[in-house]
Amino acid sequence: MKRPLAVAALLGALTVAAAAGTYTVQPGDTLYRIATRAGVSVDALRAANDLPGDTISVGQTLKLPDAAAPGAPGRPPGAPASTPPRTPAAPIATQRVGGVTVRTPTSLRAGEAFTVRLSGTDAARATVRFPSEVGEDVRAPNEALTPFGAAGEYSVLGRVVLGKTTPVTYEIKVGDATLRGSIPVTGLSQRVQNLNLPPNISKKLTDPGKAAEDAAVNKAYERRTPQAWTRPFQPALRTSAVASSFGQPRTYVAGGPVLYHYGLDYPARTGTPVTAVNDGTVVLAGTYPVRGGLVVIDHGAGVTSLYFHQSKLLVKVGQKVTRGQQIGLVGTTGLSNGPHLHLELRVRGEATDARDWYNRLLP
Ligand SMILES: [Zn+2]
Repeated sequence: MKRPLAVAALLGALTVAAAAGTYTVQPGDTLYRIATRAGVSVDALRAANDLPGDTISVGQTLKLPDAAAPGAPGRPPGAPASTPPRTPAAPIATQRVGGVTVRTPTSLRAGEAFTVRLSGTDAARATVRFPSEVGEDVRAPNEALTPFGAAGEYSVLGRVVLGKTTPVTYEIKVGDATLRGSIPVTGLSQRVQNLNLPPNISKKLTDPGKAAEDAAVNKAYERRTPQAWTRPFQPALRTSAVASSFGQPRTYVAGGPVLYHYGLDYPARTGTPVTAVNDGTVVLAGTYPVRGGLVVIDHGAGVTSLYFHQSKLLVKVGQKVTRGQQIGLVGTTGLSNGPHLHLELRVRGEATDARDWYNRLLP
């Protein structure tokens, strides 16, 4: 349906396209990626095209603002802050198997969520596995994944477990045809942080209720429901809070085990509204010893978002929520030493850097 080289050729041609002032949206593009390649801000790109949000469509023609133009207009009131990923997305490799065009990233880092994109009329019949997960400390390793999507454009989500630095391998089957490949992974190079928490906080790690808490969350990770979202993910706070410490290796008490920090911490005042990062169904809403006031949303396609330490919860289990809907208030409940939102975005139960999700076209 599409020539394998189409994307690579377009990426190469973008500098030319930038000079010409327009760009046609390709599968896999996001506002952030297009803006980065054109050397402009996401806000400037949005303003130049009168885009109310982050949604763009394949085939849409975007005006590219002049890279040298000073200060783009600010975002409209109430719009979420656009938080770019820490590093621009790596180039995409394009291959074919059984009549299906496959697009994969060419490099990954620990804790990154990524997309294998499958295009063509037979793409819905493909099965994708990640055999490198066998033997790793990862939930549901090497699961046979069926793509989600529609109209010949399908996706499967991958995740790189924190601590991993060996390549991710993939195996894609369409009928009798099989494509195998691997993607190199770099680590996060963070030094272990020793928190030395005071006993009144660290005692929550040995709370008798912790096992039940972990079991409830693990059960949520096992859900496999259809993709519930159609728009990009957005930050959970409307303030421009700066997130920190994703993937940070930590000890909580002197001499304790090294554990990864599976989420992003957003310092904010108690009572700040917490909003859903995308559409989904609330599968947990309660107060727990470690995570405190916790909401877990199932977004389908194996994706869950978790919001810790809230002072008040405004949703109930089973409730459907939409992107941007308020679900609770920031607090400092559970294992926390000050008001903040701890946000996690997990793929089949494994933690990924939420900043990689914002501004993506799909997922
Ligand atoms: Zn945290």
